[in-house]
Formats: sequence, C-alpha cells, structure tokens
Amino acid sequence: MMPLTLTEKILARHAGRDAVRPGDNVWIDVDVLMTHDVCGPGTIGIFKQHFGKDAKVWDRDKVVIIPDHYIFTADRMANRNVDVLRQFVAEQKLPHYYDVGTDRYKGVCHIALPEEGHTRPGEVLLGTDSHTCTAGAFGEFATGVGNTDAGFTMGTGKTWVKVPPTMRFVFEGELPPYLMAKDLILAVIGDIGCDGATYKTMEFDGGGVYSLNIEERMTLCNMVIEAGGKNGVINPDQVTLDFVNKRNRSGKKYTVLKSDAGANFVYEKVYDVRKLQPVIAKPHSPDNRAFVGEIKGTKLDRAYIGSCTGGKMTDFRAAAKILKGHAVRIDTFVVPATSEIAAGLKAEQLNGQTLEDVFLSAGAKIGPPSCAACLGGPSDTFGRLNEPLSCISTTNRNFPGRMGHKEAKVFLASPLTVAASALTGVITDPRDYLA
Ligand code: SF4
Repeated sequence: MMPLTLTEKILARHAGRDAVRPGDNVWIDVDVLMTHDVCGPGTIGIFKQHFGKDAKVWDRDKVVIIPDHYIFTADRMANRNVDVLRQFVAEQKLPHYYDVGTDRYKGVCHIALPEEGHTRPGEVLLGTDSHTCTAGAFGEFATGVGNTDAGFTMGTGKTWVKVPPTMRFVFEGELPPYLMAKDLILAVIGDIGCDGATYKTMEFDGGGVYSLNIEERMTLCNMVIEAGGKNGVINPDQVTLDFVNKRNRSGKKYTVLKSDAGANFVYEKVYDVRKLQPVIAKPHSPDNRAFVGEIKGTKLDRAYIGSCTGGKMTDFRAAAKILKGHAVRIDTFVVPATSEIAAGLKAEQLNGQTLEDVFLSAGAKIGPPSCAACLGGPSDTFGRLNEPLSCISTTNRNFPGRMGHKEAKVFLASPLTVAASALTGVITDPRDYLA
C-alpha cells in the first residue's frame, strides 16, 4: 500500500477508495455539517432554492447549528438571522441546535462542537466558517466552506474536494512556561506568510505538539487558515481519545487514522520550541511577525482575551496567572468562548480565588460567551473597537476593521503576553511577570 498522510487517508476512506493523491478530485461523504447565525440563513436559502422549499436535510443527526457571532446585540438584522435558524430547526426537527436564551446556548461554534461531542478522529467536518479547521486537533478533516457548498451538502451529505498536499511542521522539545500554542502558530505564519500554505494541509507533529493539551492543539489548528491552509491536523493520541471519548455522548463509533511512515510531505520545517520567544503579529496581518522583545513598550489602549483562538480555559488560566493580585492599566475585556467556559471561570480557583474573581479584581470586564468583538459586529457588541484604538488581543485576525473601527490597530498575541501588556498599558514580555 502507498503510504498516505492523515488527510489523504481520511479523504480516501470518505471517497470509498484505497488511496488518493494530492490534486485528485473526489466526492466524499460528510460526517458533520455545522453552520451559524452569520452563514446559516444564506446556506438555508440556497438549500431551499435548489432542493425545494419542503426538502429535508440529508441526515438530521449530522447537521449542527450554533448561533454565536452577533448574539448579544439589539441589532435587528442580527436578531433576524437567529430567527431564521430557529424557524429552520423547527421545520426540520433538528436535534443539534444550541439556541440563544436557553440552557442549551453554547457560544463560539468551534469550541462548542468538541464540547458537545461533534468532533471525532477520522471524520469529515464541514462548517460555514473559515476557522472550522480548529477541529483538525481531533485528527479529522475539518474545513470551512461557503454557503453554496454547505447548501449542497445539506441536501446530499456529500461534497467535492481536491486532495490537498500536506506540509509538516515539527515542534521538538517541551514548551517553556512563557510560550503558548499561539506563539508557535504565529511563528509559523510569520515564517511562511499569509499565503504560505494556500490550499495545503498543515500537519503538526513532534514532542512539542504532543505535550500540549487538547485546547492548545485546537489553537494551533485554528490559525492554519491564516496561512491559507485548507485544513490543519494533528495525529490523534491518548490525549485526543480521552477528550473525545468523554464528550462523544452519542457513542458514535469512529476510526482512528494516522499518517503513515514514509508519507509524502511537500514541505517540512522543524522548530526547537525551547529556542522560541513570545511572538506578536503587528497590524494589519497575522504574518506581520515581531518578537515581543522587538516592540516592547509600544503603547496600547485596550486588551482583549477571548474568541475560539484565545478564549478557552487554558487561555484564561494563563492570563489569570499573570493578572492575579495586580490591576490592569488599560480597558481589558474578557470573553469566554462558551457557556461551559464561563461556568469554569466561576468554578476554577487559583490560590483561593476563582478565575472570574481574579479578572474582576484586576479591573477587567467580563462579557457573555460569544464571538463578541473578535469579528467587530454591531456597534453595541461587547469589547468592539468603536474608535481607532490600539488593542492587543488573543484573537486570530488583525486585518483593518476586523474588530470594529477600520483605523484601529490590533496586535495578536498569546494570553500571557496580552495579560502582561494589560498590566502595563504597553506591549510587555510575559517573562517580566512570570516567576
Ligand atoms: S471567535 Fe472570532 S474567529 Fe472564532 S468563530 Fe467567532 S468570529 Fe470567527
């Protein structure tokens, strides 16, 4: 048998073939299709237009709908989008809907999907959101699609895909305490550029990756799209399986696949993580890399800790470690990605104080779980940059206007660096605050 990469193996199985090669065009079966409040209405419209207004989705159990983007707003059009989702879910009797204003409400889709057991090794997950690639951390093929493709999948359970070639990024060594997965992925994007992985798989490997917890692995895969990657992927290990088995409430069977020895990688780069330094992406592109030491002292107006990239428990634990017992010097916004994480902030303690207390005592504001200001949103969105401010953020994009005002400046960094900078009001090396 020809040796295959993990992505090639998954695509071959879902195409009913023994093997595929990069560049092959194949029809594949889709295991899960996710959509949200921004793209859901468009996807539903296309589905109805092409399959008929009374058509049923191909498999009710495989469609997951998660409102998360423009949620806590008075904006009429944003609220209407959620109404469209509600109506469709009722018509189709879809079981996997996480509605706003109910106990089922979750928050950011890419974190809600694994929490609710919709991510499994060896599967194909499509989502109408470019950061669907986050789920590659579970050893599956996960990628973002447009509304047209999603509408087609909704009716057929299939999609057409060109098999991407795979690039391999090996992280050797164990991460020092002042670095996080965010530093690693910003370093990679700085090296290869925003188009460095266009229509390619980015596979992460090495002891530095397997020593990361599942949330940090999600951060790595989350940002492959910032380099143009079709998908990001990490071979599943016991850490993956422990998480998935705990969350896979439906008990759905899955197949663990891994890259073969001798598989063909079109590019390979090895990093010794012990030699890396904290990294920042300067305005206005995720590949505009600087080491924190190079731009230390740059004045800031605001700090933001949230999103699918930087709003998970691991991110808040890291930020709390820095903020505990100190006061922020600039407006600091904390947004848990999901309701489960929001509950975690209330429950988990750091030296006798809940994480929520640590943030509030430091003077930060905590918002409800959602995408919030990561994508700007309506002007009443929590944390939105409504003025041309300079903001340091744990989010994943810093293009002009991304977090609101088109003249705002956004610096992307790890939660450690964002928290340290919140304490000083200037870009600060987290090592200054870590014992
Ligand atoms: S948190 Fe930001 S990047 Fe993640 S899904 Fe929401 S808007 Fe997109």
